[in-house]
Amino acid sequence: MDRSGRVSRRTALRIGGAAAGVAAFGGLAGCSGAPSVDPVDLDPVELARTMIRFDTSHNGDGGITRPHADMLKDMFDAAGAQTEILNVPKADNAHFVARITGTGQGGKPLLMLGHSDVVSVERDRWSVDPFGGEVVDGWLYGRGSLDMKGANAAFISALLRHVQEGTRFDRDIIFLSDCDEEAGPSGTRWLARSHWSTIDAGAVITEGGWILTRSDGVTPMLAGITVQDKSATNVELVARGTTTHSSKPMPDSAIIRLDRAISRLADYQPPATLAPVARPYFEALAAATDNPALADALRLLLSTADQTERNRAADLVVSLSPYPWLHNAMLRHTVTQVIQQAGYRTNVMPGSATATMNLRLLPGGQPVAETLDQMRAVLGAEPQLDLRISTKGTTQAPDQLLVQYQQRLADSPSSTDTDVYRHLEQSLRDTYGGIPVAPGPFEAGTSAGPWRERGIPVYGIYPYAVDNDTMVRMHGNDERIRVDALRRGTDLMYRFLGSFRVS
Ligand SMILES: [Zn+2]
Repeated sequence: MDRSGRVSRRTALRIGGAAAGVAAFGGLAGCSGAPSVDPVDLDPVELARTMIRFDTSHNGDGGITRPHADMLKDMFDAAGAQTEILNVPKADNAHFVARITGTGQGGKPLLMLGHSDVVSVERDRWSVDPFGGEVVDGWLYGRGSLDMKGANAAFISALLRHVQEGTRFDRDIIFLSDCDEEAGPSGTRWLARSHWSTIDAGAVITEGGWILTRSDGVTPMLAGITVQDKSATNVELVARGTTTHSSKPMPDSAIIRLDRAISRLADYQPPATLAPVARPYFEALAAATDNPALADALRLLLSTADQTERNRAADLVVSLSPYPWLHNAMLRHTVTQVIQQAGYRTNVMPGSATATMNLRLLPGGQPVAETLDQMRAVLGAEPQLDLRISTKGTTQAPDQLLVQYQQRLADSPSSTDTDVYRHLEQSLRDTYGGIPVAPGPFEAGTSAGPWRERGIPVYGIYPYAVDNDTMVRMHGNDERIRVDALRRGTDLMYRFLGSFRVS
């Protein structure tokens, strides 16, 4: 890699070098007009390291993903795949698509969706270079190591291994590395509008469900395959006050008013919901856990029809779960303080202050308007305070947005009655020692909206087993993934893709 962060084609293909001697793909090497193919290192850890070294981070305005796409194109070209780079309006930002042609006996293509962009970093809060791809004590560190360059490395490594071995699939397998997933104007919705025929598919696999471990942090316990994403919206809390010279402080300060309001909201939680999409997951968790108290709390949660008791059971589940934040998010809408804006000069007491809160809405959860009303009730009647749906980045009015968010709560999850779901379920069991597998909701969002909206089933899985600490680092500092978990996750994807082999 040179100082610009670009990796030469040769370096990209050979980086790590551990698998030197791997045969070239598909008889392309040496063909006239075809790239001269180096032995490709399919080691998923080395591939993930290479990906992490491309700084594809951004703050919502699209990253620099084209060099990363070029690197993937070289890999897939060498494998004889059909490839295409789809540039978006922003310079140096692009989607990448590769297609491995199958016989078509199995129907429409299977699309593997893995975003290439990552969220930006608080660089001085990291103990390693977030774009260095360093391996320390068996852990691969770096922005995107978990979300989701690590998963992409597992997807690609498994797929190209099959290609290298001459596997013929019963359907086309499409790998799509999308940009602008972590917000941005030209994500998969832009892509679907302009290039649908390229990405049309019978089913989609992407990020989502987790493989949970027992208390040792290593032994797999339960796998969730996500069949529906939570949706997200932002809410703004605006406080107003007198604006004046900072030499004469007054109690009527917008900043102080906002701070007090945020404190009042700190303990607010929307009521617990056992959404139909989440029930099978919590039933499986009750059977899988080796903590009898947690199993009891889950059974109470699963059996009660009373809201007060459900809230109590959910609190118990969260307090006893080794993955408290994940399970809290699967049981209710959540509200998170994310951005505050106030003040612009040291000699001015500003007249307004704004906090932005991110709401994640559970399908089947309470009406969004009720959640906002509950928040307003907590804040109390204060004319100088306003709580409203954020309209940033949209031309729609708050009321229209509210209707739209409400409709999403009534959407149906992807069906589990498909061959793709069954193959993924079986592959998870076979790879992870027979652990239970259950469908459930994803606590975050993905770029799979365009397929879901067209009724195409989408299944989410991070293929590696993670402990709670690893999960908490997602979008946080010192994001990392266990190297051996990434390798096993690649085995999972290899086995899964093998299900589509034509015998
Ligand atoms: Zn992601």
